[in-house]
Amino acid sequence: SNPSTTKREPTLPPGFSREAFDRAIDDLRGAIGGEFVEINDVPLNAGNYYHPSLSHDSYAVLEEDYFVPSAVAWPGSTAEVQAIVKWANRWKIPLWPISIGRNLGYGGSAPRVPGSLLIDLGRRMNKVLNIDEKAATCLLQPGVTYIELYEELKRRGLGEKLWIDVPDLGGGSVVGNALDRGVGYTPYGDHWAQHCGMEVVLANGEVVRLGMDSMPGSKTGQCFPYGYGPFLDGIFTQSNFGIVTRMGMFLMPNPGGILPFMISFMHKEDLQPAVDILQELMVSRLLGNVPSLRLGLWDAAVYGSKDQYWPENAGRPVTDEIEAEILKKADLGAWVFYGAFYGPDELTSAQWKVVQSKFAGIRDVRFQLREDVPENSYLHDRAAVFAGVPTFRELAWHQWIPNAGELFFAPISGVNGRDAVAQVDMCKKICTKHGFDYLGTFYVAQREMHHIVTILWDRSKPEQRQAADRCIRELIRTHAELGYGEYRSHIATADDIMATYNWNDGAFRKLCEQLKDSLDPNGILQPGRSGIWPKDYRGKGWEI
Ligand code: ADP
Repeated sequence: SNPSTTKREPTLPPGFSREAFDRAIDDLRGAIGGEFVEINDVPLNAGNYYHPSLSHDSYAVLEEDYFVPSAVAWPGSTAEVQAIVKWANRWKIPLWPISIGRNLGYGGSAPRVPGSLLIDLGRRMNKVLNIDEKAATCLLQPGVTYIELYEELKRRGLGEKLWIDVPDLGGGSVVGNALDRGVGYTPYGDHWAQHCGMEVVLANGEVVRLGMDSMPGSKTGQCFPYGYGPFLDGIFTQSNFGIVTRMGMFLMPNPGGILPFMISFMHKEDLQPAVDILQELMVSRLLGNVPSLRLGLWDAAVYGSKDQYWPENAGRPVTDEIEAEILKKADLGAWVFYGAFYGPDELTSAQWKVVQSKFAGIRDVRFQLREDVPENSYLHDRAAVFAGVPTFRELAWHQWIPNAGELFFAPISGVNGRDAVAQVDMCKKICTKHGFDYLGTFYVAQREMHHIVTILWDRSKPEQRQAADRCIRELIRTHAELGYGEYRSHIATADDIMATYNWNDGAFRKLCEQLKDSLDPNGILQPGRSGIWPKDYRGKGWEI
């Protein structure tokens, strides 16, 4: 379809008439160039991972036309970002910066407040500013994706020497992902922990450099993150206090070898003992990367659709008996653990022996290396990710149901069987109650696991979308009652999640609001992000 043939009335910023909005847009065009501003009046076409939509959240869990920007701007420099921010302060128009906009399952490119101006930093601010080969660091603009950084290293002949850490999919922004505190799977998997130095445009239009780069002519900006004085970098993650226009990141030197492996735990009940054993391996750093422990059924979705496994399913969640049949058909364990050792073969083969001995007491446990599995095994793709090679096979599980929309629920668990089992049981019960399959995976760090649950619904069925919304809100509430909170949220659930972090009468939220009011008195930057609302929005019914 040709989007230029049909136009949609744009969603205007709060309180704006069309005429005032057009004047504001003309003013913005004057500031950064007419061709770099577009009113969002295209039809809300779905978009997909390869062509992420800038018009709305492709996986909208509320009405599709709610989280919709009024217009998009493509700044080409930090100075132009400052110009946009000053413009927004003049017109009191909310801004929503994105680096790439592939944050699918968490809101994609969409703004929290309808009618915000989207700032797409990705299109023009996408340069690799520096790579320091010996120190293994880089300095990036927000538009650099994992795949682009990977390609750039190869182009400079450094692909063998320096590795990157990719998340499940390689199309997102390295800076954007770190700012949302996303994870990958190498020893550098905690992306935020690898950042070093950043440049931020504040909500008043001023620009600041943090860490060592706050000194003019600094020679150590990507060597030491803390600089001098208070360490403020963290307040610019998952927040609405600034727009990050460049960031330094550590790269991983090629460790001289890698041994990816897969351990299948054949029975559901193995979860508890497996995770208890895992705790010892993670805390002691015998396992030094971010391995994942994935529900076998989710792996099954990588290999085929629910219909293929279960033709008579009629849209119901799989029962325990059907799950067992599917796992058998796909030759999968109830839980599948993917990990890797890094270093020369002598070292990694010895580590592999130790790990096998630790899990050997679990009934029917299966240990496999790449040479033990068929060519289409997902282990090969996980092995690539463990070596910092961007892959896209993770998209395959979207085929589980037709027209899948996805929504992530992401609570933090301890690395212990008790927490894991409590969360899995709760998630399974609640997902099933709302008509969804429980599909979960644990990304295992040294002392915690990100438990990632995807709720998949059929986008052609509004009642399923609404059920997904009810389901996630119940998951948030019930987990908080057990003392478990989320590490990241979809824009639609930010208020619910912030409301669970309410120790001492919401002291944390109040501190965030105090910062917000001081840094952004006009409330123009990402109102409502992470449940932090500027004073003019608070108590006026914006919370969802
Ligand atoms: P992805 O890299 O997955 O495409 P996005 O670019 O969509 O991620 O970013 C995810 C979220 O992180 C955005 O919605 C925004 O709130 C925040 N964000 C991303 N980039 C920046 C940035 N440069 N400055 C401030 N916030 C950002």
